[in-house]
Amino acid sequence: MTRPGINRYIPRSRRFRPPPEAAAPFSARRISPVTDRNPTPSPPPASQAYWDPELETQSRASWRASTLAALRAHLRFAAANSPFYRVHFAAAGVRADDVETLADLRRFPFIDKTVLRDRQLAKPPFGDLCATPERDIVYISASSGSTGVPTASPFTARDFDDWIDYEARQFWSSGLRPEDRYCHSLNFSLFVGGPCVLGAQKLGALSIHAGTVPSERLLSILKQFQATAIWTTPSYAWHLGETAVNEGVDPKRELAVKRIFVAGEPGGSIPETRRRIEDLWGASVYDYYGLSDIFGSCAGMCEEKDGLHWAEDHILLEVLDPDTQEPVAFGERGELVLTTLKKAARPMVRFRTGDIVSFTEAPCRCGRTSLRMQGVHGRLDDMLIIKGVNLFPSDVEAIVRKDVELTGEYRLVVERIEHIDRLTIEIEHVRGYNGRTEALAERIGCHLKALTGVSAIVAVLPPDTLPRATHKAKRVEDRRTGVWS
Ligand SMILES: [Zn+2]
Repeated sequence: MTRPGINRYIPRSRRFRPPPEAAAPFSARRISPVTDRNPTPSPPPASQAYWDPELETQSRASWRASTLAALRAHLRFAAANSPFYRVHFAAAGVRADDVETLADLRRFPFIDKTVLRDRQLAKPPFGDLCATPERDIVYISASSGSTGVPTASPFTARDFDDWIDYEARQFWSSGLRPEDRYCHSLNFSLFVGGPCVLGAQKLGALSIHAGTVPSERLLSILKQFQATAIWTTPSYAWHLGETAVNEGVDPKRELAVKRIFVAGEPGGSIPETRRRIEDLWGASVYDYYGLSDIFGSCAGMCEEKDGLHWAEDHILLEVLDPDTQEPVAFGERGELVLTTLKKAARPMVRFRTGDIVSFTEAPCRCGRTSLRMQGVHGRLDDMLIIKGVNLFPSDVEAIVRKDVELTGEYRLVVERIEHIDRLTIEIEHVRGYNGRTEALAERIGCHLKALTGVSAIVAVLPPDTLPRATHKAKRVEDRRTGVWS
């Protein structure tokens, strides 16, 4: 960090910005001083707390004002350039020019995964939500979703730069610095998490593109290069740590990993799960949230690890009651609905994610002022209704991971017997447990009832009985027919 001239931080106001006519051909995207920014040309000094102080510490009022300006411009851009939105907005009788407050967005109709898939089938290969010609698209990611038909998420060069710049900013907030050695153990193949490694590289960290390799190989890479940071899923971080221990390698002493970035499952925001992974590795775990249809990361934890800072300059969020579609209060759970503010290749307006989340606007101890996600509690399609009570697997995880006499693995089995729902929670006691399994079952059953109001049969199994997930874990087996199928 002592190379003069290379990492010198240049205040935003003094950075070069091309005149509008020389910029990308999306004039509606040139919006406001806060939201319309060129990606950072080089990292700030390592001692600097923020990647972009002016942006990250602005007041809530300033966030709202710049979001509104960006929203109006983006809606105008979508209506003018996307064949789908032109028709979609007209059919709903809404116009970008009528948006005077952020609440006015609620008059606009929703889209969801089905719309993306149907429009892509109608207008292949990318669908007519796209607002730029194909020659301006430089990258796509794709996700299969539950329908099995992959939907493509296209990026212009500027969209891609914005994403990588945001990624670098978020990594910076999690304490990653140019001195770090970052090992990326996710693959690139159509998966939107892949290029996030470029964010670490842009930040100046040495980046090792390990991809998806067998655990033993990955451990040897971590050891050989003494990587200080990795990115994977919570399940895999746990699996990898256990594999190391089983091979006689103590991750705390023989590996140098000090930061583990996780995404893709709720575990990273469940303190008990995070603590277990942290204890196993002797490292800090930071939860990240991304969405294949928008960005690799849309939010991530700062070093305070008290919620995930949202990419508010890129994506406007709403948290809505899934039944009434009305906004819920901060702190309450609802469905996350997203609207992009800049992404030109394919604007997304009121995209229903199906993720159940909660948010806070309380100030963070780190000084950043963006909204913070308090975790993804589950997906609408993961939500179980047991005798009329909503239950997410993450509620069970919070209880199971806290108990030191359990391995932390669990599975929920739901059956319907004589028209009555029956939930069985399968857990495993740790190796060497000498107590009564009945006592363990009763304890976990009582905790679940107290936390969620749901009664369950608890089956305590020997260690290593439940299937181990290497990446995304399947935690629910719903054997009821015709329910949440
Ligand atoms: Zn923070």
